[in-house]
Amino acid sequence: MIPKSHPRYESLMLRQKIAEGVEKGIVHITGLIAHGRGEAFDYLIGEKSQHFATEAAKAAASYIKIAKHPVISVNGNVAALVADEIVKLAETTKAKIEVNLFHRSEERIKKIIRLLEEKGGKNILGLEGDARIPGLEHDRAICSYEGIYSADVVLVPLEDGDRCEALKKMGKIVLTVDLNPLSRTARNADVTIVDNVTRAIPHIRGFYTEIEKPEEVIKRWDNRKNLQDALDFICERLRKIYKEGC
Ligand code: ATP
Ligand code: MG
Repeated sequence: MIPKSHPRYESLMLRQKIAEGVEKGIVHITGLIAHGRGEAFDYLIGEKSQHFATEAAKAAASYIKIAKHPVISVNGNVAALVADEIVKLAETTKAKIEVNLFHRSEERIKKIIRLLEEKGGKNILGLEGDARIPGLEHDRAICSYEGIYSADVVLVPLEDGDRCEALKKMGKIVLTVDLNPLSRTARNADVTIVDNVTRAIPHIRGFYTEIEKPEEVIKRWDNRKNLQDALDFICERLRKIYKEGC
């Protein structure tokens, strides 16, 4: 048991959830590495949602608001960390949920669907695997025709760079959550929320209900500038950390 008074309680709880996810067969073993990389970047942004993250969550909510066919893609890490929040976001936005795995296995898809259903999720896609994302090889291309394949806006948290690029080539608006502002996914997406997925997903839902003029938010949105803001913030924070103590 980790005591609540521990200075890094939240972060350690997330680590525990990912480890349990591996034990239950929800998280692929490589998901541990992805999580570790995420932890390092979360450390650099102060383990808090900074201004660039809330602005990006607002832009993501705006794109979902104007979408005709929004889809939320869920992988093992996302399911282990925020299954309940994903279900709530889908309910609020009327987006479809598709379980889509980089290391595809029917058994793991079934387990993740069951977890999302336990949290109240309905009509979760992913098992049918009846369409392919052009330009990707092997199982990595498989998706659902009714879900990602037909979507106009896709929210793909913690996505792989190649798949993000392939989705862009299909003409989709790609929204992502990625703590690393330098990853290919971060640089290729239309909206990159540089934040922990556990904080970003509830923010998107909050903004979705608040925003009245999504077109105006989108018109002003500049993803490259936002990524630069994230990097500037990290550099500035590192420069000051021992001088002022953050
Ligand atoms: P890319 O393929 O986009 O260049 P990568 O190869 O560096 O990225 P992947 O393993 O493909 O990394 O994707 C995992 C990404 O998810 C990493 O950039 C990591 O920082 C990020 N990540 C991991 N855990 C979280 C989390 N809880 N919240 C947000 N982002 C996370
Ligand atoms: Mg990658």
